[in-house]
Parts: sequence; structure tokens; C-alpha cells
Amino acid sequence: MRLQGKTILITAAGQGIGRASALACAKEGATVIATDRDAGLLSGLDMETHPLDVTDVAAIVALRDRLPPLDGLFNCAGFVANGTILDVTERDWDFSFDLNVKSMFHTCRTFIPGMLERATKTGTASVLNMASMASSIKGFPNRTAYGATKAAVIGLTKAIAADFVKTGLRCNALCPGTVDTPSLRGRIAAATDPVQAEKDFISRQPMGRLATTDDITPMVVFLLSDESRFVSGQACLVDGGVTI
Ligand code: NAD
Repeated sequence: MRLQGKTILITAAGQGIGRASALACAKEGATVIATDRDAGLLSGLDMETHPLDVTDVAAIVALRDRLPPLDGLFNCAGFVANGTILDVTERDWDFSFDLNVKSMFHTCRTFIPGMLERATKTGTASVLNMASMASSIKGFPNRTAYGATKAAVIGLTKAIAADFVKTGLRCNALCPGTVDTPSLRGRIAAATDPVQAEKDFISRQPMGRLATTDDITPMVVFLLSDESRFVSGQACLVDGGVTI
């Protein structure tokens, strides 16, 4: 049980990578607090759940006040706005930054003080921020707002890691390749030619297939566990070889 004794909060745990991560962490013995904007998506999870819209600062603070200090925080919530610099509206841009980056600014500011208390007692605490291979790592077509937000997540992650490196609190970013999740299926279905869109997503993955959420969760468990105790400030790629 690699996460025994740890209390870990996960955002956007209703479906996709967040949900798979909640299940994987619980399987490794963590007390998982699964949150999502859509409470209905949390109903089947056999763990503590709370509705949480990560763009609602007051709700983040109110939830923190009901919970014990955390050992782990996985900021998973994020959104893909499609388009080049010429297509993206200011609204898409602002929404992407609010959801993908500013939400992490608020959750980190809200939960890190309690996590530092835990780190003082146990020697360790771990923040994991969801970034992407589409970020400062690599450019992709039609990912202007998305790539900019995920690059900002990596910058935020490194800054937090640097500020707290002597305390036991670590902070890393997770950078997946293309993962088969409900949001990816939505992007495929919304394309003009969904069959071709799926082929295009697969063809950008050199291993010839999309990642499953189970390809991603081992890295999530590792980064939230003490096995990664000497790892901080890293953008950890699980990209099926895209960046080889
Ligand atoms: P998904 O659409 O399958 O799940 C997203 C979840 O986020 C949903 O349960 C939704 O209710 C929740 N959510 C949306 N807005 C929210 C808000 N304001 N507050 C709280 N919850 C909210 O998504 P996914 O594909 O699993 O992606 C999860 C994360 O992984 C995102 O940050 C995404 O950018 C990142 N990511 C995904 C891929 C991919 O290919 N799927 C690749 C790299 C990174």
C-alpha cells in the first residue's frame, strides 16, 4: 500500500484521468477526497466526495475548512480550447486561464499551509499539477490558449517547488500525451470528420495508440507517494514517445 496513511484531494475526479487517479490512489491505501464540479459524476465512487468548482474560491476555502490537512493535492481540472491565435476569443483565453491556471493558484494557496503542517510532522507532502505535453514542452496545432495555460502550470509548479524545497513539500507537474477520456471523445465527436479526427489523434502518438487512463495513473501514484521523495519541480512526461 504505497499511499497508506495519506489524505489526498483530487479535483475533476468525476471522470477521465481524475476519476482513474482517485480509484488508483484509493487502491494504494490513501484516504481520497474526490471532488468535481458535477456532483452527479461522483455518485458511483466509494470514497469521500464533495462537489467543487475549482473556479469558485469561496467554495475551495469552505471545503478546506471541513477537511483535515492534506498530504497530497492533485489539481487535475482543465479544459481544452481549440484554435490558433487567430481563432481563440478573449473569452476562451480568459476561461482557459481561469480554469487551467488560476484555479491552481487558489487551491495551492488554500491547501498548502495545512500541507506544510503535515510535512513538518511526516517529512513529506506532495502537490501534483496537471499540465500536458502541449505546453512549454511542445507546440501542437490549434492549442494556443491550452498550450499557454499548461506552460503556465509548469512555471507555477517550479516556483512552488523552489519556495518549499527545504520543507518536505514537493510540487510536480504531470504532462500526459493523448489520453482516451470523455473530453477527448467529445473533441473527436465535435470534429467535422470524427473518423479522421480520431486517426489524427492516434497518428500523433508514435506508439500507434491513445493512452488509457491506466497508462497515466502509475505516475500519479508515484508522484503522490514517498517513492518520489527526491523529485520536485519536474514536468513529468507520460507521452507514449511523442517527445522522443
Ligand atoms: P474529462 O473531460 O474526461 O474530465 C474532466 C472533468 O473535469 C469532468 O469530470 C468535469 O466535470 C470536471 N470539471 C470541468 N470543469 C470543472 C471545474 N470548473 N471544477 C471542477 N471540475 C471541473 O478530462 P480529462 O481528459 O481526463 O482531462 C483531465 C485533465 O488532464 C485536464 O486538465 C486536461 O487538460 C489534462 N490532460 C488531458 C489529456 C487528454 O488527452 N485527455 C492530455 C493531457 C492533459
